[in-house]
Amino acid sequence: MNLDRNSLLAAIFSAFASTTPLANSNTSEIVLRYVGAGKASVEYQHPTLRKQIDFYDADSDTHSFVRSKLWQPSEGCTVELDRSRIRLPKCDHIRFILSWDGIQRDRRYPPLIPLQHGGVLVFTKYLQTFDGNGPTSWKVIAPKGGVAAFRGQKSSEEISIPGSVFAEDPRGWIYLGPDKFVQSEEAQLMVDEGVSDSVGNIVAVMLPQLIRLFATELAARPLSKPSVFIGWANREVGGRSFQADTVPGSVIRFGLSGSDWATPSSAQLETIRDIASHELAHLWNAGVYSSEARLSPWLHEGNAELLSQAAQYQLGYKDLETLRKNAERAIASCLQTAGDQSWPMNPERLRGRIPYDCGFAIQLGAVGVANRCAPEISTMGFWKQHWAKFPRYDESTLVAFLSAVSTPNKSALLKRLLDDKSLPLQIALADLYRESGLLALSNAVETGKTDFNIDAVRIREIFEGKRLNTPRYAEKSCSVTSE
Ligand SMILES: [Zn+2]
Repeated sequence: MNLDRNSLLAAIFSAFASTTPLANSNTSEIVLRYVGAGKASVEYQHPTLRKQIDFYDADSDTHSFVRSKLWQPSEGCTVELDRSRIRLPKCDHIRFILSWDGIQRDRRYPPLIPLQHGGVLVFTKYLQTFDGNGPTSWKVIAPKGGVAAFRGQKSSEEISIPGSVFAEDPRGWIYLGPDKFVQSEEAQLMVDEGVSDSVGNIVAVMLPQLIRLFATELAARPLSKPSVFIGWANREVGGRSFQADTVPGSVIRFGLSGSDWATPSSAQLETIRDIASHELAHLWNAGVYSSEARLSPWLHEGNAELLSQAAQYQLGYKDLETLRKNAERAIASCLQTAGDQSWPMNPERLRGRIPYDCGFAIQLGAVGVANRCAPEISTMGFWKQHWAKFPRYDESTLVAFLSAVSTPNKSALLKRLLDDKSLPLQIALADLYRESGLLALSNAVETGKTDFNIDAVRIREIFEGKRLNTPRYAEKSCSVTSE
């Protein structure tokens, strides 16, 4: 298992923090307050002798860019900012107002999101620091008459968040503002004022359905009760875009952007369904179960795409034809952008649509191979069984699991796809699809056709995992081990 620098530091700090009680006077604390008008103030309290604060994720351009916009220190304070740390030559404590920078940016995690009803969402990662004692602790003070909320916690006074909460992953959304949460048994939801009812209703209806379905099909409840926020930015500006993210603590944020969301079309509402199911799937594939996300985003992004389709099909939101078309679109997109290069050597496989589309394409092939050998294994069932065996998963556990439910020979095709640096992805995928019984698809992929039809019967079998009594799938070469 590879650990990057931050994970390593986090692990060390986490161990330290849990065994050593810290004297308050020697530790740093972030104090977060609501200022009003969709703004928050942030104060770093640190021992006077400390003249330097170290950040998480020093190596990201986005993060240093966002930070340079954020740091407007209080009077009498000099701050020198570089990518990894802030130096405070003349500063006993630093305080600044966190505001929305007013420019629409393609950024998954804006530092501050003002909501129409007056509340704000504050993103912790750009603000989270660590000193010699580990990640910084937070004190979050609720606005007058409102609440502070973090994960499942909500208080009309204040919330303390120990630094150790951020040790594994510094991402989090803190809410400050009026208590507009709608509570249900499965989740709590906050839809901002003015967001179209059609969008809010879709999420409100789907949330409990998806949570119950995934909990049943993947044999586990979410780690904590999900909190979902739906906001709408840039309402006066034309156009339409969408961002969504899932952070630890089962917190999901939907960010609608642009005036076109006032009257969403049916296609846009379908996008909302797709994204809601995708993000919910992350509560399992990156929550209950976990992978080394930085190194193989195709595993959890492609997986969320696959489980999203499977869940919507099971819930009746998508018919077989839509499922087939979506699979064709993902595979075609993967081949167009990444087909000619080998998978392990493709420098783009960590970025853009590629982890989503190629992750979907590869995992569909893997499930197909398993399903051909053991027709009772559905898409959802494949992952349920895989995670029962390997709750921390990576590329090698996927190959090992496929080997156990099909044969070592067949899983070798997947291993070759993942490892062989000279094998173009389209050739490797064509071989995998042939073993999946997706023959027409396999031929099309191999000959470079971009216009193809996936066999509807096979797609149904792969997603449903039903035993159809068709002898051609009960191959002798598949010896299924059960354990
Ligand atoms: Zn995702």
